[in-house]
Amino acid sequence: MLKNDLLETWDRENFFHPSTHLAEFARGEAPQRVITGGKGCHIEDREGNRLLDAFAGLYCVNAGYGRPEIAEAIADQARELAYYHAYVGHGTEASITLAKMILDRAPDHMSKVYFGLSGSDANETNIKLIWYYNNILGRPEKKKIISRWRGYHGSGLMTGSLTGLELFHKKFDLPLSQVIHTEAPYYFRRPDFAMSEADFTAHCAAELEALIEREGADTIAAFIGEPVLGTGGIVPPPAGYWEAIQAVLDRHDILLIADEVVTGFGRLGSMFGSEHYGLKPDLITIAKGLTSAYAPLSGSIVSDKMWKVLEQGTDENGPIGHGWTYSAHPIGAAAGVANLKLIDDLGLIANASETGGYFRAAMVAALGEHAQVGEIRGEGMLCALEFVADRETRQFYDPADKVGPRIAAALASEGVIGRAMPQGDILGFAPPLCLTREEADTIVAATEKAVRAVLG
Ligand code: PMP
Repeated sequence: MLKNDLLETWDRENFFHPSTHLAEFARGEAPQRVITGGKGCHIEDREGNRLLDAFAGLYCVNAGYGRPEIAEAIADQARELAYYHAYVGHGTEASITLAKMILDRAPDHMSKVYFGLSGSDANETNIKLIWYYNNILGRPEKKKIISRWRGYHGSGLMTGSLTGLELFHKKFDLPLSQVIHTEAPYYFRRPDFAMSEADFTAHCAAELEALIEREGADTIAAFIGEPVLGTGGIVPPPAGYWEAIQAVLDRHDILLIADEVVTGFGRLGSMFGSEHYGLKPDLITIAKGLTSAYAPLSGSIVSDKMWKVLEQGTDENGPIGHGWTYSAHPIGAAAGVANLKLIDDLGLIANASETGGYFRAAMVAALGEHAQVGEIRGEGMLCALEFVADRETRQFYDPADKVGPRIAAALASEGVIGRAMPQGDILGFAPPLCLTREEADTIVAATEKAVRAVLG
């Protein structure tokens, strides 16, 4: 590709980057990187740097970069039929096949898949379907949604409200009034360090039940959660958490949305996080790993129980008034079909478990005893390091010290991309599911260097 000397200038002058410090970027003080290519777990930038992408983009390029099988499926679909809509019963071979492949992989009690484009719009769909469902059932008051602090569910008005991170609310007049938040299942930051994991699980369930009783169960429609907290810090739940939470929800007739945008299609070493932790959700949100991000596509997988009521609703009210122009876009669907086949053919789910386990063990061996590493945690192909000023007292750093971002920057200068998670000094890893042991060793060696360079 010809080098355009103006590209960086055009970028600063014209491109409104998401989740970016706008003023620093415009002043040339924030990082700017133009990515030009990718193969396997590596990407390349315009300066000719080759980086090991240990976050798979935004935990989405699960099959790895540069897969010809997916690229060709997209090209073939674009040549044959780039677009047709899915309204009033229309479909394409790719979208119908993909819906079947998703349901074949989903828990048995799931019934249909509604396609969108992003994790955010899929969660918007979920909330609308839940409101529709309760209206059909004659429960117009049962509308509030409970989410967790540190949950991440998107950036829209409703989904940004569900997201339990201050940065996504501040100055946006969020959260909306229908959304309420409960305790994050974050054992490392439990309110009382004397609590055992079982105590903390019981505490989270009790907090949830108290909230439901305060608000009135007849006003609460659903609870949304990621099987493993992702953007909020890559935090697997404490032992017994999902069982305890589901018991509370069942007692109060509250629906469960499993947001599997990160965990769906193998990241935990299981097809779904719901299967991994024994959840029985009413809705499952999917995106990212559905196409390994080769094309934008998301979905809401709807349970039998909800589907029956939704069907009844259209008998009474006519077609469901919810649709996107690009629902089930054929190019995204073709990418999804090729990607799900590749995940099976390459055994990527087993690799997420095996190499992911090896990776975390190697990280613990290298940095587990470091005085400023408070915890190394993860599940499947997810790993996070949380840094603390004092390990004994778990004193956290002042956010102004930017310890996490400084370590992530030092890591990038070692040729490895990790992610400074947005709240707390947490370095996250979510490599492509095709990671090899050699690549895991490279990430660990670079992380050790970066941590020692910043913290000693
Ligand atoms: N849910 C979860 C669990 C996510 O991690 C994300 C994105 N990081 C979303 C929803 C939103 O997805 P999108 O950015 O595609 O809208």
